[in-house]
Amino acid sequence: MKSNIIILTLLLISNLGYTQEKSHVLLVSFDGFRHDYVEKYNATNFKEFIKKGTAAEGLIPSFPSKTFPNHYSIITGLYPGNHGLVANTFYDPKRQANYRISNRPLVEDPYYYGGTPLWQLSREQGYKAASYFWVGSEAPIKGHFPDYYHIYDGSVSNTTRIDEVIKWFQLPEKDRPRFVSLYFSLVDSQGHRTGPNSKELENTVKEADQVLGYLMKSLETIDLPVNVIVVSDHGMKEVKNTDYVDFNELSLKIPPYATVVYDKILSMVFLPSEDVDSIYASLKTLEKNFKIYKKGDLPKKWHYNKHERIGDLVLVANPGFAFRKKKINEKITGEHGYDPYTTEQMQGILYAQGPNINSGLTTEPIENVNIYPLITKILGFKNPKIDGKFRKIKAFYKK
Ligand code: AMP
Ligand code: ZN
Ligand code: ZN
Repeated sequence: MKSNIIILTLLLISNLGYTQEKSHVLLVSFDGFRHDYVEKYNATNFKEFIKKGTAAEGLIPSFPSKTFPNHYSIITGLYPGNHGLVANTFYDPKRQANYRISNRPLVEDPYYYGGTPLWQLSREQGYKAASYFWVGSEAPIKGHFPDYYHIYDGSVSNTTRIDEVIKWFQLPEKDRPRFVSLYFSLVDSQGHRTGPNSKELENTVKEADQVLGYLMKSLETIDLPVNVIVVSDHGMKEVKNTDYVDFNELSLKIPPYATVVYDKILSMVFLPSEDVDSIYASLKTLEKNFKIYKKGDLPKKWHYNKHERIGDLVLVANPGFAFRKKKINEKITGEHGYDPYTTEQMQGILYAQGPNINSGLTTEPIENVNIYPLITKILGFKNPKIDGKFRKIKAFYKK
């Protein structure tokens, strides 16, 4: 009897020891991977991954459904209207200058980045974090870079990225990151070139499937249970280049002293306040295949009404259309950036598996700001002030 109690106590202690082991999270993004690609193109490694874990039917991007705003929403748990990367290209009224994703010094300037990215939160809570590419990882936000990171270079092979992530997870515990981000751009790039329904894109999805297969095989070789969360920032919509809104025509209604931020799907105009109503009314007469909003009147769900980097007038192309300044050939291409709530093709993916993730579940589409509180729950971190809510994603979480 006494020995039974001792065995039971020992079992309990060892069990406790196990549950107290440190958890790890690898957050992987396949840029532009639409919610239906796995089925549409029979991506078998993705299917295998989903079977072992939990999947959302779609990941709802934040507005605008572009790369920089959304990667940064995922890593901060904040909507773009609250973290400040309000588009890939935007105007900053304080500096009176544009931010652009192709401008290295600006991309690496912490001035533009609000919130607390997961790498910085890890540091604040006493743990290491790493990034093999992610928006925001190249700027010393709140004074610090991730403990291990690389400046973005799209030419680095996908296997090189994975091999280094595996090395990070093999570091001795004191040096080992508990949170790692990893990014692949191939699906977005091809989606733009030939559209989401092309044979070329099908081949690229198969290539991405091989990348996931290589990642999961590599993780199996190390003795560390890692929670793997696979996401994308947005989907892709087929666009005929002949379906466009002539931006030159709109420009004729905008005074020369206004600041115009022109982009294909989302354009903005900054004006002296006394001009806003009249220029709005004037542009409104041309409203065809796009929508125009006054700042403050944008759909509530977008959480895009307050930030100083949002223009006084916001113009959004309708799904399937794009603003253009010159005629281009009749090719079919792919675009994103549209309203993520009414354009299903903008939805991305959210699949997860690992020791802290439930198996065999599917959930309804989830907004991407909720990924942050899932990750902090797994890592045992306290959330800063964020827009995401754990209760909206709790189906993924296994105690
Ligand atoms: P877009 O499709 O215009 O929203 O932007 C996608 C592009 O962003 C991809 O083709 C990447 O090359 C680029 N990109 C992704 N991450 C970074 C980064 N950290 N720095 C610079 N460019 C990036
Ligand atoms: Zn993207
Ligand atoms: Zn893109």
